[in-house]
Amino acid sequence: MISNKKHIFVLDTSAILYGFNPQIVEGEHYTTPKVLSEVHDENLKIILDISISLGKLKIKIPKHEFIEFIKKRATETGDIFSLSETDLEVLALAYELKSEGFDPVIITDDYSVQNLCTLLSLSFKSIVTEGISQKFLWIIYCPACGRTYKSSELITNCKVCGHILKRKVYKKESI
Ligand SMILES: [Zn+2]
Repeated sequence: MISNKKHIFVLDTSAILYGFNPQIVEGEHYTTPKVLSEVHDENLKIILDISISLGKLKIKIPKHEFIEFIKKRATETGDIFSLSETDLEVLALAYELKSEGFDPVIITDDYSVQNLCTLLSLSFKSIVTEGISQKFLWIIYCPACGRTYKSSELITNCKVCGHILKRKVYKKESI
Protein backbone atom coordinates (compact mmCIF):
# COMPACT_ATOMS: atom_id res chain seq x y z
CA MET A 1 0.00 0.00 0.00
CA ILE A 2 1.25 3.44 -0.88
CA SER A 3 0.64 6.14 1.69
CA ASN A 4 0.20 9.63 0.32
CA LYS A 5 0.24 11.16 3.76
CA LYS A 6 2.48 14.19 3.97
CA HIS A 7 4.31 15.09 7.15
CA ILE A 8 3.35 18.44 8.60
CA PHE A 9 4.53 20.22 11.74
CA VAL A 10 2.10 22.36 13.72
CA LEU A 11 3.97 24.83 15.93
CA ASP A 12 2.69 26.12 19.24
CA THR A 13 4.07 29.24 20.94
CA SER A 14 6.59 27.30 23.02
CA ALA A 15 8.11 25.77 19.89
CA ILE A 16 8.76 29.21 18.40
CA LEU A 17 9.96 30.81 21.64
CA TYR A 18 12.43 27.96 22.21
CA GLY A 19 13.99 28.40 18.81
CA PHE A 20 12.22 26.10 16.33
CA ASN A 21 13.10 27.66 12.96
CA PRO A 22 10.84 26.50 10.08
CA GLN A 23 13.45 27.60 7.54
CA ILE A 24 16.01 24.99 8.59
CA VAL A 25 13.67 22.10 9.32
CA GLU A 26 12.55 19.87 6.46
CA GLY A 27 8.81 19.68 5.89
CA GLU A 28 5.74 21.87 5.93
CA HIS A 29 4.97 24.01 8.95
CA TYR A 30 1.70 25.47 10.14
CA THR A 31 0.71 27.69 12.99
CA THR A 32 -2.23 29.90 13.97
CA PRO A 33 -2.77 33.69 14.24
CA LYS A 34 -3.03 33.46 18.06
CA VAL A 35 0.43 31.87 18.24
CA LEU A 36 1.88 34.70 16.13
CA SER A 37 0.26 37.28 18.41
CA GLU A 38 2.08 35.75 21.40
CA VAL A 39 5.53 36.24 19.88
CA HIS A 40 6.90 39.64 20.89
CA ASP A 41 10.64 39.13 20.41
CA GLU A 42 11.80 41.20 17.42
CA ASN A 43 14.35 38.62 16.20
CA LEU A 44 11.83 35.80 16.36
CA LYS A 45 9.28 37.98 14.51
CA ILE A 46 11.81 38.47 11.70
CA ILE A 47 12.42 34.69 11.48
CA LEU A 48 8.65 34.14 11.31
CA ASP A 49 8.11 36.85 8.68
CA ILE A 50 10.84 35.39 6.46
CA SER A 51 9.50 31.86 6.97
CA ILE A 52 6.02 33.01 5.94
CA SER A 53 7.28 34.86 2.84
CA LEU A 54 9.33 31.81 1.81
CA GLY A 55 6.24 29.62 2.16
CA LYS A 56 7.95 27.57 4.89
CA LEU A 57 5.36 28.60 7.46
CA LYS A 58 1.65 28.75 6.77
CA ILE A 59 -0.83 30.55 8.98
CA LYS A 60 -4.25 28.96 9.22
CA ILE A 61 -7.30 29.58 11.37
CA PRO A 62 -8.98 26.28 12.26
CA LYS A 63 -12.66 25.91 11.45
CA HIS A 64 -15.05 26.70 14.28
CA GLU A 65 -16.35 23.13 14.44
CA PHE A 66 -12.88 21.80 15.22
CA ILE A 67 -12.32 24.35 17.99
CA GLU A 68 -15.69 23.33 19.49
CA PHE A 69 -14.74 19.64 19.26
CA ILE A 70 -11.39 20.22 21.04
CA LYS A 71 -13.12 22.33 23.73
CA LYS A 72 -15.62 19.53 24.33
CA ARG A 73 -12.93 16.86 24.70
CA ALA A 74 -10.77 19.11 26.90
CA THR A 75 -13.77 19.78 29.13
CA GLU A 76 -14.34 16.04 29.53
CA THR A 77 -10.72 15.48 30.59
CA GLY A 78 -10.46 18.59 32.78
CA ASP A 79 -7.61 19.93 30.65
CA ILE A 80 -9.75 22.90 29.63
CA PHE A 81 -8.58 24.77 32.76
CA SER A 82 -4.95 24.61 31.77
CA LEU A 83 -5.38 25.18 28.04
CA SER A 84 -5.29 28.72 26.65
CA GLU A 85 -7.33 29.88 23.66
CA THR A 86 -4.08 29.59 21.70
CA ASP A 87 -3.55 25.97 22.80
CA LEU A 88 -7.11 25.13 21.72
CA GLU A 89 -6.51 26.77 18.34
CA VAL A 90 -3.28 24.80 17.79
CA LEU A 91 -4.96 21.51 18.71
CA ALA A 92 -7.96 22.29 16.52
CA LEU A 93 -5.71 23.10 13.57
CA ALA A 94 -3.82 19.81 13.95
CA TYR A 95 -7.07 17.90 14.25
CA GLU A 96 -8.47 19.61 11.16
CA LEU A 97 -5.31 18.79 9.15
CA LYS A 98 -5.54 15.19 10.32
CA SER A 99 -9.17 15.00 9.22
CA GLU A 100 -8.03 16.16 5.77
CA GLY A 101 -5.69 13.18 5.53
CA PHE A 102 -2.45 14.89 6.55
CA ASP A 103 -0.11 13.48 9.15
CA PRO A 104 0.47 16.41 11.50
CA VAL A 105 2.91 16.49 14.39
CA ILE A 106 2.44 19.20 17.03
CA ILE A 107 5.69 20.68 18.31
CA THR A 108 4.94 21.62 21.90
CA ASP A 109 6.36 21.56 25.40
CA ASP A 110 3.00 22.04 27.06
CA TYR A 111 1.84 19.08 29.15
CA SER A 112 -1.86 19.76 28.66
CA VAL A 113 -1.48 20.04 24.90
CA GLN A 114 0.51 16.79 24.93
CA ASN A 115 -2.16 15.14 27.06
CA LEU A 116 -4.89 16.11 24.58
CA CYS A 117 -2.71 14.89 21.71
CA THR A 118 -2.48 11.46 23.30
CA LEU A 119 -6.22 11.39 23.82
CA LEU A 120 -6.99 12.41 20.23
CA SER A 121 -4.28 10.18 18.69
CA LEU A 122 -2.41 13.23 17.43
CA SER A 123 1.38 12.99 17.21
CA PHE A 124 3.53 15.44 19.14
CA LYS A 125 7.18 16.13 19.72
CA SER A 126 8.81 18.12 22.46
CA ILE A 127 11.17 20.86 21.29
CA VAL A 128 13.78 19.63 23.76
CA THR A 129 14.08 16.38 21.86
CA GLU A 130 14.45 18.19 18.54
CA GLY A 131 18.18 18.81 18.82
CA ILE A 132 17.94 22.50 19.52
CA SER A 133 21.41 23.64 20.60
CA GLN A 134 20.35 25.18 23.85
CA LYS A 135 19.73 23.75 27.25
CA PHE A 136 16.67 24.67 29.21
CA LEU A 137 15.99 24.41 32.87
CA TRP A 138 12.38 23.92 33.67
CA ILE A 139 10.05 24.75 36.44
CA ILE A 140 7.02 22.51 36.73
CA TYR A 141 4.03 24.22 38.30
CA CYS A 142 0.37 23.71 38.96
CA PRO A 143 -1.75 26.35 37.18
CA ALA A 144 -4.59 25.75 39.67
CA CYS A 145 -2.94 25.92 43.11
CA GLY A 146 0.46 27.33 42.20
CA ARG A 147 2.56 24.59 43.78
CA THR A 148 5.90 24.01 42.05
CA TYR A 149 7.73 20.73 41.48
CA LYS A 150 11.17 19.62 40.44
CA SER A 151 11.34 18.27 36.89
CA SER A 152 13.14 15.21 38.29
CA GLU A 153 9.90 14.17 40.01
CA LEU A 154 8.53 13.12 36.61
CA ILE A 155 4.90 13.64 37.52
CA THR A 156 2.18 15.02 35.30
CA ASN A 157 -0.49 15.84 37.88
CA CYS A 158 -0.42 18.05 40.97
CA LYS A 159 0.00 16.04 44.16
CA VAL A 160 -2.20 18.53 46.03
CA CYS A 161 -5.14 19.13 43.72
CA GLY A 162 -4.64 16.64 40.86
CA HIS A 163 -4.58 19.34 38.19
CA ILE A 164 -2.41 18.73 35.12
CA LEU A 165 0.93 20.47 35.55
CA LYS A 166 2.40 23.09 33.25
CA ARG A 167 6.05 23.55 32.49
CA LYS A 168 7.90 26.75 31.76
CA VAL A 169 11.49 27.72 31.11
CA TYR A 170 13.15 29.62 33.92
CA LYS A 171 16.68 29.58 32.61
CA LYS A 172 18.21 29.08 29.19
CA GLU A 173 21.88 28.23 28.67
CA SER A 174 23.91 27.80 25.52
CA ILE A 175 25.68 24.49 25.37
ZN1 LIG B 1 -2.38 21.95 42.33
